[in-house]
Amino acid sequence: MSPRTRALPTRPAIPAWKIILPVLGAAALGWWGYSWVTRPVNPPLDPAARQGSVAGDWATLKTFGPRTPGTPGHDRTLDWAQAHLTALGYHVTRDTFPLDVWTDGGATVTGPGGLNVTGRALYGSQGFDQQGRLVAVPGDASDAQLEALDLQMQLAVTHCPERPWGRFAAALIDRGAFGVAIIDDCPVTPALSRAPATPLPMLVLDREAGAALETHLGQTVTFTTRTGEQTVQAANLVARRVEGQAQVIYGAHLDSVPGASGANDNASGVLAVLDLARRAAGTPDAKRAWFALFDAEELGLIGSRQFVRTYAYPMEQTRAMINLDMVGVGAQPLGVAATEDLLPLIRAARPGLREFEDEAQSTRETFGRSLGTTGLSDHAAFKEVRIPAAFLHRGLDGHYHTPQDTTLDPALVQDAARTAWTLGQAVLAAPFTPRPECGLTGRDCH
Ligand SMILES: [Zn+2]
Repeated sequence: MSPRTRALPTRPAIPAWKIILPVLGAAALGWWGYSWVTRPVNPPLDPAARQGSVAGDWATLKTFGPRTPGTPGHDRTLDWAQAHLTALGYHVTRDTFPLDVWTDGGATVTGPGGLNVTGRALYGSQGFDQQGRLVAVPGDASDAQLEALDLQMQLAVTHCPERPWGRFAAALIDRGAFGVAIIDDCPVTPALSRAPATPLPMLVLDREAGAALETHLGQTVTFTTRTGEQTVQAANLVARRVEGQAQVIYGAHLDSVPGASGANDNASGVLAVLDLARRAAGTPDAKRAWFALFDAEELGLIGSRQFVRTYAYPMEQTRAMINLDMVGVGAQPLGVAATEDLLPLIRAARPGLREFEDEAQSTRETFGRSLGTTGLSDHAAFKEVRIPAAFLHRGLDGHYHTPQDTTLDPALVQDAARTAWTLGQAVLAAPFTPRPECGLTGRDCH
């Protein structure tokens, strides 16, 4: 047995707090430093940017071409608008999100006697192969005439239908057709219309291919379409002063439909929002407004719905969202559709401004969006989360959703921007009670 030893006296242990506190302190300092360095800051206001005009902006914007997501014109427009808004002294965020877009892989018709013609798949349709007998259907067939046709297991051939192509093709398929070929011999290009995603071939042929096909009426041929989906980058642009509040949100969609230049729909709205941002730049009003350009409106309000999810919290301060869509061609006098809460303010601020209904029963061809009673453009996404919203619009012009939508009148755009500004000022001057918390989806408010 060894003798019991006694521990030698040692230095007392360093208390834990003497280590933990300095480490925590250093971490906090590091975090603060990092946040400070990476904090959003307002860029300097470039005086030259305030000298711009709607006409000058349009001269630039129109050189970019169509702004369908996934195209160079779309991305150049985003870059240009971002630079423009930054030069006006706004902190601009580019909120990107992936988007699946429809792609055409081509269409062919093959048959006896070496028949082999090519065309394109009808926008929005699904790729498929189908065999059947060719039957001619008049492009101006009424519903009653369609009812009388026996299209069971046949392939329908038609010339430039009078009604929207997607809907006409869907009606033929409802009547039992196994496929539809549309011969595009229209004097004026009709508005782009999306076909339902039915697994049956729907194709478009030019005059020459159509003539070759029509020599085979009554014979059995094969329709083949190839379509696909591609994921592209879409983005909303949001411009604001760092210290600013989203009391009024001015917005417009920047995308256009495939094949259309989108001057009135909706370069006009983009130009109006830029004009509003320019008007507010460097003034106290810049701190009370946000300026937003939404993507993928034409595919079903995708960008604006993304926006209301992303900014649910700052939007507690939002008294009104003012949307501008198709304000550069005077199909009708400038009109407004607004939520009930804004109408008295609007009537007082702009007596005599035309009012219109903005509901589902519209002749407007839709792009797969669910209409419900939500409205026809991006303001609907705000209405869905109970943000008061106003929609400024000059009606559907004859070139709506066609390649001929190439012109707009800068004076009309400027007038729409001026009206939006007047409404925005009226909204800011009115008393405001913050809304109860609506939750992320707005569902709690319903
Ligand atoms: Zn539009």
